[in-house]
Amino acid sequence: MQDNLWQAVLGEVELSVSHASYLTWFKQTTLLKNKGGVIVVGVPNVFIKQQLENKYTGLISELLQKNGVKPEGLHFKIHSFGSNHPVEVEAKQFEPKTTTSSDDPLPAHLTVSAPSSPYSHDYRQGLNEKYTFENFVVGSGNELAYAACMSISNIPGTKYNPLFVYGGVGIGKTHLIQAVGNSIVKNQPDKKVVYISSEQFVQEFVSALRYKKTNEFAQNYRSVDVLIIDDVQFIAGKEKMQEEFFHTFNALHQANKQIIISSDKPPRDIPTLEERLRSRFAWGMTIDMQTPDFETRCAIIQSKAHDKGIVLTNDIVEYLAKLIQTNIRELEGVLNQLLAFCEMREISPNLDIAMNLLSSNQTRPKHINPRQVVDKTAKHFRIALEDIMGPKRDKDIVMPRQIAMYILRSELHLSFPKIAHELGRKDHTTAIHSVDKIEREIGLNGQIRTAVKEIKERLYV
Ligand code: ADP
Ligand code: MG
Repeated sequence: MQDNLWQAVLGEVELSVSHASYLTWFKQTTLLKNKGGVIVVGVPNVFIKQQLENKYTGLISELLQKNGVKPEGLHFKIHSFGSNHPVEVEAKQFEPKTTTSSDDPLPAHLTVSAPSSPYSHDYRQGLNEKYTFENFVVGSGNELAYAACMSISNIPGTKYNPLFVYGGVGIGKTHLIQAVGNSIVKNQPDKKVVYISSEQFVQEFVSALRYKKTNEFAQNYRSVDVLIIDDVQFIAGKEKMQEEFFHTFNALHQANKQIIISSDKPPRDIPTLEERLRSRFAWGMTIDMQTPDFETRCAIIQSKAHDKGIVLTNDIVEYLAKLIQTNIRELEGVLNQLLAFCEMREISPNLDIAMNLLSSNQTRPKHINPRQVVDKTAKHFRIALEDIMGPKRDKDIVMPRQIAMYILRSELHLSFPKIAHELGRKDHTTAIHSVDKIEREIGLNGQIRTAVKEIKERLYV
């Protein structure tokens, strides 16, 4: 009987959520109890439990009612399948391969809290409030990383330490690991959470070396509860930095402090990463984030449009999701382009407008070469080509240079090393930093926004 009821509910769930969500969150559930209106649903692990509790109780209650049961209470219980006796189990598949936590106390000098110094940090250093779990769309490619991050945010430092997530550009790594930090800060305000990109980490370390403040630097980072290092690949090849990070890692790990790391590739593929760090990174859990599938991309577009108070028709959503298939940042870019275009003209978006405006995203760049971008940018700012390509660090040269890099990325989709090369730079991290900076500035600074727009327009005439 119970089986029939639950099968009926699942059948309708399948019709109301995406296929990916159904497979991930519902397929392995079962009805354990239905007595006096109290419903207990068995689920295979804690992640699914949390997701159902947070997002789907409304839907499940509604469907139970539709099938003749008015739930007085709806509960989810972790249940081991294949056993006749329901038992509470841990989520085995997510358990770290080896645990190395030790109860040895840390040496006293590593546990002092941060002194006030130029390096002392806010308790929520580096976090951007806009990245939350609530506005992260879960689907194929990211559900495992999402589940692990949710679990960490509830009980930082106890499981999956370190958590190492890797994947290509623009697929949501930063969003997700920032969401962990934001959620911890919100629910446990006494925790000291630090988010830092490994490039910034290196920069701070270099300046600490220069000003002989390495002790403060070390103490600071060793006193955090949650350390989130983004794009860790950039510390590869930097020996002193790796050594420092190794000690920070050990100190935090021993004290059961949470470490979260992201990278564009798995530890084994990061060249010139010291072996001892490589093996540390593999201590906890390593998760591969993959490009979201078509359905998930559609859901992301809908959610981003919804945040802006706009409902898009399915044909537009599907067009965008097909147009940009790998990089969610680019996907957001074309969506914003479309919305801005329509807003300025006070029209509502439709498929024709989208196609006319955006189809060029695939074809236009072919006619333009990188040299033209650099050239037009220099001309726009009335600076000499030798200057934009040269070593000068004056502000009125650095900014145009960064803009040129940004346009090379956003219009021609060049790789960072290639972008650096086009501007006569050896180090591609400069290109990453510049593109990032202009991306941020465009939202804040009208002058930069206009400059980028004008240069782009001139490229296509
Ligand atoms: P990465 O760090 O992997 O390069 P980001 O985290 O910066 O990627 O993501 C790029 C953009 O795409 C961000 O604006 C982020 O909010 C958005 N994004 C990526 N994945 C998702 C998702 N699953 N749901 C909502 N937004 C997403
Ligand atoms: Mg990132």
